[in-house]
Amino acid sequence: MNFIRFARNAMGTRFELVLPGEPVGTFRAVAEAALDEIDRVEAQLSRYRSTSQVAHINAQAATTHVKVTPELFALLQRAKLLWVQTAGAFDITLGPVLHLWGFENGRLHLPSAEQLANACALVGMDAVELNEADLTVQFARAGMWIDLGGIGKGYAIDAAVAVLREAGVSSAFIHAGTSTIFALGAPPDANAWKVAILGPPEPQAGGDTAYTALGCDRQNGPRTALCVAELRDNALSVSAVWGRYFLIDGRAYGHIIDPRTGLPVQNTLLGAVICQNATEADALSTALVVLGAGGMHNLACAYPGIRMLTVANSTDGSKLCISTVGLDGRTARCRELAPAASVAVRMLSPETGL
Ligand code: AMP
Ligand code: MG
Repeated sequence: MNFIRFARNAMGTRFELVLPGEPVGTFRAVAEAALDEIDRVEAQLSRYRSTSQVAHINAQAATTHVKVTPELFALLQRAKLLWVQTAGAFDITLGPVLHLWGFENGRLHLPSAEQLANACALVGMDAVELNEADLTVQFARAGMWIDLGGIGKGYAIDAAVAVLREAGVSSAFIHAGTSTIFALGAPPDANAWKVAILGPPEPQAGGDTAYTALGCDRQNGPRTALCVAELRDNALSVSAVWGRYFLIDGRAYGHIIDPRTGLPVQNTLLGAVICQNATEADALSTALVVLGAGGMHNLACAYPGIRMLTVANSTDGSKLCISTVGLDGRTARCRELAPAASVAVRMLSPETGL
């Protein structure tokens, strides 16, 4: 079976669409339409584009009701529901805290307790009022803003998949920088698309302990798969603290923040979620890093059929602990690995399954 790949740079990453079949010309129009949909979503959601609806909300919503399209309103409602279902672990109003740490502008520094308290006071989805009657948004506190970066890539993938489905495509694989994926149907000659969630390489002798504590290492050794997920009409998203991080005084700080404390998550290093759509998978994988393995039970109750995996440091930091629900067919199992360097998602070759 031959596979055709199409790609588009958007939302600060590279989206790739894989379609089974040939020749390329047969699929070009529908693939371009699906990738154009990602651009359309970015134009609506990016807070960096002055013409976007989100930029408009951020500029006006503290002083007036801002009217938005039904589509964006529905997405904000979903983001609010995700905030409720994750007990506040996923929060699109976290921007002021991310900005304070410097993740927003690259000027990374340790904030003072007072600065942190001030930024945290601007966070909370409960202060985003969504008025269904007139499709308006208002902020209850001046100085707050929203950023859909933690959910937008998944939403763009779902929008692209809707275009594919409408065009009659029944088999496709689409991902945003390998971190959020949707598998439409299955490859023609298989029951499911297979995706490996890669485990950490063996720790390198003389590796930097700060990096190792965060589960990353500058030297990349060979990796093995923690598990192979079979996907068919569902989404997988993986969030890892070392996706972006910095070092201060020999300590590593990752880019996923616990909204309840304003502090970067330290113990859980990776969260992976498989569920029905990429929008929720994207948000829930971030939330799972915040909640850790202890949050799996509540998520499993709120999202029936969800599959999850976390990688965390053991209490004494000597081992990595892998917890899974619904993956590998063995539920809620926990096993230990040596301290690690990194975990990433690798899409198995559709041709070989390896
Ligand atoms: P992801 O890589 O999908 O897990 O998204 C992580 C990005 O979302 C970070 O780089 C931050 O910009 C933002 N973020 C960090 N912590 C949170 C959180 N608790 N809730 C929502 N967004 C977050
Ligand atoms: Mg995410």
